[in-house]
Amino acid sequence: MEYEPVIGLEVHAQLLTGSKIFCGCSTAFGEEPNTLTCPVCTGQPGSLPVLNRKAVEYAIKLGLATSCRITPYSIFARKNYFYPDLPKGYQISMYERPLAVDGVIEVAIENQKKKIKIIRIHMEEDAGKLKHGETLETAAFSYVDFNRTGVPLVEIVSGPDIRSPEEAGDYLRKLRAILQYLEICTGNMEEGSFRCDANVSVRPKGQKELGTRAEVKNMNSFKHVEKALEYEIKRQIAVLDGGEKIVQETRLWDANEGITVSMRGKEEAHDYRYFPDPDLVPLKIDEGWVDEIRKSLPELPGEKKDRFVRQYQIPEYDAEILTSTKAMANYYEECVRLLPEPKTVSNWMMGDLLKELKRDEREIDQCPVTPRHLSEMLSMVKAGTISGKIAKDVFEEMYQTGERPETIVKEKGWNQILDEGEIERAISKAMETNPKQVEDYRNGKDKLFGFFVGEVMKQTQGKANPKLVNDILKKKLKG
Ligand SMILES: [Zn+2]
Repeated sequence: MEYEPVIGLEVHAQLLTGSKIFCGCSTAFGEEPNTLTCPVCTGQPGSLPVLNRKAVEYAIKLGLATSCRITPYSIFARKNYFYPDLPKGYQISMYERPLAVDGVIEVAIENQKKKIKIIRIHMEEDAGKLKHGETLETAAFSYVDFNRTGVPLVEIVSGPDIRSPEEAGDYLRKLRAILQYLEICTGNMEEGSFRCDANVSVRPKGQKELGTRAEVKNMNSFKHVEKALEYEIKRQIAVLDGGEKIVQETRLWDANEGITVSMRGKEEAHDYRYFPDPDLVPLKIDEGWVDEIRKSLPELPGEKKDRFVRQYQIPEYDAEILTSTKAMANYYEECVRLLPEPKTVSNWMMGDLLKELKRDEREIDQCPVTPRHLSEMLSMVKAGTISGKIAKDVFEEMYQTGERPETIVKEKGWNQILDEGEIERAISKAMETNPKQVEDYRNGKDKLFGFFVGEVMKQTQGKANPKLVNDILKKKLKG
């Protein structure tokens, strides 16, 4: 039987406020454990939470950027459960009345646009972090760090609209780009600023109703999300094909083993005994404020993409990739500012540059080649100082060493040969050592022209100007 995967994603994004959501403690990452805490975020009796206005503003920004409706009235509830990283015994989170609803994120799948629904965006506080001695199973004890407790989060819940692991990856990348463009979240998955859980089910192709789903957690990179989903889809299909039923449960992605393992039965909402937090008044958001925030929104990925197509006359496909992160878009625009050849710059970025970054799993802001160096190199190609072919080697060298292209070309002696005398000598030599081929060429075997170009390039280590080689070679071979 053929199955169709159905995936919905829940993303927790940490908001880039200076202080926590309900107290004045700093949200800094990587500080000494338990130094950024106070009675409020550690849940001491008698302490009272006060909502951070900036966090609400950031959440509204995200709501607007994803075409959500901002609800004028939302309520913080207590989500009750016990876990050592949760000092209050409950997490403050919006439940029945979230901040924003009914949005959409558009992704491009194989050049087709697809809309993925955003069901809701709500605000909540983060929990602390447990540090286990070795592994969870072997550790004799665990430490708890409350620095992260009370850091503001938004949870973004998508509709069950995603149909493949790649689509999930595209959606996540787009969502992260929006958060980064808005400058409200670092989007750093390793540091846990951008976390993703997935609800996965499969159903026979053509069936309307959804299959039983499993929730997959603990995927801390885009690559792992895609791998975990691939594994989970295959696992569920195997279970169904074996005549068994899918159990509704929470499963953990084990990156080392490349499998998902059952963690616990899935909780239902009623297990959390939600009720409105009596210490916080309902959050009323006036329209004037929302309008003000709307006006302050920066250019978002979709808008930037459209502008790139218009302004730089590059294909939509290029523009989509070049605007996929704000850093990449800035890099591109900086290069084009230095060398106003948008298509050439785009070709190099889409080709050699992204290939190198992908191989090293680097982001563009970790790229050793600066926009200045790249544009300098492209200017050298344009001026004929180096050939397009040599440029690839220069680029590789720039990427490895971070050196300026001029320095590299000088050190390596990679200047293009523009001296006609020198090229003529190389041609003569190629003809002398291959008399048979010269004769064949003169007897009509035109294809041999390429052979001679190759010989000349070999002799000049690829440095001869190709146009000059062509022109002179034609004359010489005619005899
Ligand atoms: Zn605090």
